[in-house]
Amino acid sequence: MINGQQIYDLIKKLYPIPRSITGEGVRQTLSLISEVIPLKVTEVPSGTKAFDWEVPMEWNIRDAWVKNSKGEKIINFKNSNLHVLNYSIPIQKKVGLAELKDHLYSLPDQPEWIPYRTSYHNLTWGFCVSHTQLENLKDEMYEVMIDSTLKPGSLTYGEYYIEGSTKQEVLISTHICHPSLANDNLSGIAVSAYLAKQLSEKKNNYSYRFLFIPVTIGSITWLSRNEAEVSRIKHGLVLTLLGDGSDFYYKRSRQGNTEIDKIVEKVLKDLGKAYKLLDFSPYGYDERQYCSPGFNLAVGRLTRKPHGEFPEYHTSADNLDFVKPEYLAESLDLITSITEVIETNKTYLNLNPKCEPQLGKRGLFKKVGGAGKTKDFHMALLWILNYSDGTHSLLDISNQSGLDFKLLHEAAKRLMDADLLQELN
Ligand code: ZN
Repeated sequence: MINGQQIYDLIKKLYPIPRSITGEGVRQTLSLISEVIPLKVTEVPSGTKAFDWEVPMEWNIRDAWVKNSKGEKIINFKNSNLHVLNYSIPIQKKVGLAELKDHLYSLPDQPEWIPYRTSYHNLTWGFCVSHTQLENLKDEMYEVMIDSTLKPGSLTYGEYYIEGSTKQEVLISTHICHPSLANDNLSGIAVSAYLAKQLSEKKNNYSYRFLFIPVTIGSITWLSRNEAEVSRIKHGLVLTLLGDGSDFYYKRSRQGNTEIDKIVEKVLKDLGKAYKLLDFSPYGYDERQYCSPGFNLAVGRLTRKPHGEFPEYHTSADNLDFVKPEYLAESLDLITSITEVIETNKTYLNLNPKCEPQLGKRGLFKKVGGAGKTKDFHMALLWILNYSDGTHSLLDISNQSGLDFKLLHEAAKRLMDADLLQELN
């Protein structure tokens, strides 16, 4: 049984690593995930075409600082890897205050926090600082130094495949490219890794494919290399932002009414807590690529409060205090319930469709626990028999009858044992 502390401990280990969309930080991250589940790591060379895109140069960083005229390091990458604009080119030079300020990023609304900023496509350099620090900079000469490299290398991603009894797949995708930010995206990485571990210890009907990829360019690269197999993906979820205490948010697939959309809605409803459903929009995380019209996969996105909707988003305040073991555990439990419904949501055929079969003579009227439960179980048998005409899944029947999905699943098994029902998918 996996507990929230284990998930949190993985986040803690991953937190200090300076990550980006390529580079050693990604490799170190995948190697730590490999301590939980065996990952297959793929390196795709810089310059490789991926649909309309190209795998970028590999970026690595060792150190960076800004020194004041006294030679004191006033901004130091070693204190927070968020201080450096992600993908900064190497630089070492003396600058005046005005030039320095042209390369500084801060958050006037949150003056004590360091923002997270990237510049993947414009070759430039920069530092991210608290607004208070920026405001207090004196008019003097500064020395800036960024010890980074941006040169041909590769884009790295990790994959874990769990074979089930069918080749039909459930895709779980999470991004791995942000540096020291706990909720976005270390919570997604850690919850996915432990979900994978848990599923690998079960016998599953579906095969499960876990992707640990840099956002956008990672999913585009993966899709461009796996186009032929994509039709196996029956359901998918993009996972991120799962460690804070806010409500769950589910963003529907582009198709909007697929089985995974219905399953997640049902499980959220049964959780008995507030939640929000969002329609698809072509913005956000990697669901944008999986749901691009040329693929249009049944992939939704599960988060708690989405990106940009909480003040700590993409700042130094998205730290190890912002995520909690209990919320991580709750997220893993929810996704586990989703996979349980994915595994058991079958469509059946009633083999005795002309009038109701006699249940009593087949011993199907036995008491199952409390009196209320027996009545529900009896109703479950009748609902399944009536609606199992090959067009209604157990989930449809659960939604229509208001009966508990697990109870219906139990009833379907009993009807199968009594040769009254045949499984169709
Ligand atoms: Zn982000």
